[in-house]
Amino acid sequence: MNYFQMSAAALFEEKAALEQAYQTVKEQKLSLDLSRGKPGREQLDLLTDMLSCVVTAEDCISENGTDCRNYGLLDGLPEAKRLFSDLLSIPEESILVAGNSSLNLMYDAMARAMLYGVVDGETPWGKQGRIRFLCPAPGYDRHFAICESLGIEMIPVKLSAEGPDMDTVERLVASDPSIKGIWCCPKYSNPDGFTYSDDTVRRLAAMKTAAPDFRIFWDNAYAVHELYAEGGDVLLDIFAECRKCGNENRVFYFASTSKISFPGAGVAILAASAENLAQIKKIMGIQTIGHDKINQIRHVKYFQSAENIHRHMQKLAEKIRPKFEIVEEILTRDLKDTGIATWNKPKGGYFVSLYVEEGCAKRTYQLCREAGVVLTNVGATYPYGKDPYDSNIRIAPTFPSNADLRQAMEVLTVCARLAAVEKLLAK
Ligand code: PLP
Repeated sequence: MNYFQMSAAALFEEKAALEQAYQTVKEQKLSLDLSRGKPGREQLDLLTDMLSCVVTAEDCISENGTDCRNYGLLDGLPEAKRLFSDLLSIPEESILVAGNSSLNLMYDAMARAMLYGVVDGETPWGKQGRIRFLCPAPGYDRHFAICESLGIEMIPVKLSAEGPDMDTVERLVASDPSIKGIWCCPKYSNPDGFTYSDDTVRRLAAMKTAAPDFRIFWDNAYAVHELYAEGGDVLLDIFAECRKCGNENRVFYFASTSKISFPGAGVAILAASAENLAQIKKIMGIQTIGHDKINQIRHVKYFQSAENIHRHMQKLAEKIRPKFEIVEEILTRDLKDTGIATWNKPKGGYFVSLYVEEGCAKRTYQLCREAGVVLTNVGATYPYGKDPYDSNIRIAPTFPSNADLRQAMEVLTVCARLAAVEKLLAK
């Protein structure tokens, strides 16, 4: 029944029923977690053979004769570049294969820009006074944390199913040279699961920026993370679009195998124009002599081809898909008719974004917490941790068992309804 069409008496009755249900749940003393965007054990177990595919000294010799056990090749193994090139349709020469974390590469890219500046910029960002970044929101909290930590002011921009609101983006970047860049998670975005439309990608590539040293931080973390074998979202090639407009230096592209192989023990890449890579490598060479090439060759030996990675992603999807279906089933069953919530049904990625009644996310979080269900901190999906509507809740369904997930979702919907009824009755 739609809560907005209920009489006060009916709402009081609903509240009493929900309080009763909530009390029953609390007595179960649950300890469940919907906050962790990481694979469950059964996903990781699918990769057990990867642990033993580099065994001998010979296994460590790269196709160009490089011994992976030793220093060398700052920008990674050629066969690793080729694998990522095939997987992501990026030219090999644009790719730098690095260590275990793309977030690390993003932080370093930002810190480097602050300390040294970027190609096309005469002055380090950190010496240009106030520096600002566009932050499509809801977004990934760790992107925002990088800005906050380095003193870069964040400007939230509304994100919809097409991508960031491009009218706003174009207007802001055209007039303000202190805006140095934009965070983008362009495919199966965290947390909404949105993929930028072709038009959005074209406009990002073509737009006029007042800052000559403007950069798009293109975090394609979920590039191949399809939930279904067919009909996945297709993202336009940002490099090709930038090249058409003469803006090839505009993009820093990041990706990793964190949610393909082992999070924290995968392989990350950075891709950029030749000029950008030359500058980056010069500075990176001061930071490190090289990355973990044994892990790079392990990934190449295990997967062998982009085709095999896509096949592996479908095996992972078979584990994950039922979890997304549980989320969808319980949200639909418990919330659809109430009119107090909306949510996304992504075709890939790692999250479901739930929008509860405005002003009720914090209360829902608190009720869940007291009933033993941990959610991602509400507000975390917005710059400075401030959700202007106090509405968005990021659900991470991949880690818990199906049984735990079901139970946690049932608690969440009771709490979301209770929070909404409390609000409606307080009016
Ligand atoms: N980017 C996004 C959008 C993510 O959601 C995550 C992890 O959740 C990361 C980056 C982290 O990637 P990595 O493990 O390569 O540092």
